[in-house]
Amino acid sequence: MGLRENIARVRNQLDEAARAAGRDPGEITLLAATKTQSGETIRAAVRAGITVCGENRVQELTAHLAEGAYEGAAVHFIGHLQTNKVKDVVGRVALIHSISSDKLLRAVAAQADRLGLVQDILLEINLAGEESKSGFSPGQALDAARLAASLGGVRLRGLMCIPPRAVLPGDNLPYFQKLRRLAVDITREMLDNSIDMDVLSMGMSGDFADAAAAGSTCVRVGSALFGPRPPMSSTHD
Ligand SMILES: *Cc1c(COP(=O)(O)O)cnc(C)c1O
Repeated sequence: MGLRENIARVRNQLDEAARAAGRDPGEITLLAATKTQSGETIRAAVRAGITVCGENRVQELTAHLAEGAYEGAAVHFIGHLQTNKVKDVVGRVALIHSISSDKLLRAVAAQADRLGLVQDILLEINLAGEESKSGFSPGQALDAARLAASLGGVRLRGLMCIPPRAVLPGDNLPYFQKLRRLAVDITREMLDNSIDMDVLSMGMSGDFADAAAAGSTCVRVGSALFGPRPPMSSTHD
């Protein structure tokens, strides 16, 4: 099936899930997760209506920026980010979804300061406490948000999660609801800090409808748009 048809199908399913939950589909961004895709495929996706691309790997981000692959669309960083690669990402993407530690948070803020800009960020929350995944535990989230609010170089826009792979529809609903509650709690706790938490980045190919029902404002979809990926050499970097 073609890319254009896939985008239309996913967007329709997303809109239906939003409406069924009494939400405005216009509140939910369909981000195309472009890892392993060529610049040409990214250009085709943008021509077919994709407005936001999400990159996992610094190397791919750099190459695709150099070839102008995102022309007409925004680009976000959604993958694991190492402190030593922060300079290749800060200021080059509209939003970093994957701030997963205090160390990374400070490094991103410092680089943004150096460049004289403010980088929009999300905190990645490891809801299921999975060893294999990065992120703050739910219990650490409020302190991390306070740290972000205290650093001039970053603007905290919300939270992101990558729950375990869903097997059945509904499997990840509790995680998505938990992330939403966490965002509400943080916003309530930090009213004095005037933060703009309006992004909940949750939902992938297997569970974006549940995420939409639970309040997602950004679903990150790869294989449902582009087809199955070749195996990656590493899940990190
Ligand atoms: C690959 C990836 C996605 C998309 O995964 P699919 O299951 O292919 O839709 C979303 N978010 C992140 C962080 C990813 O690495």
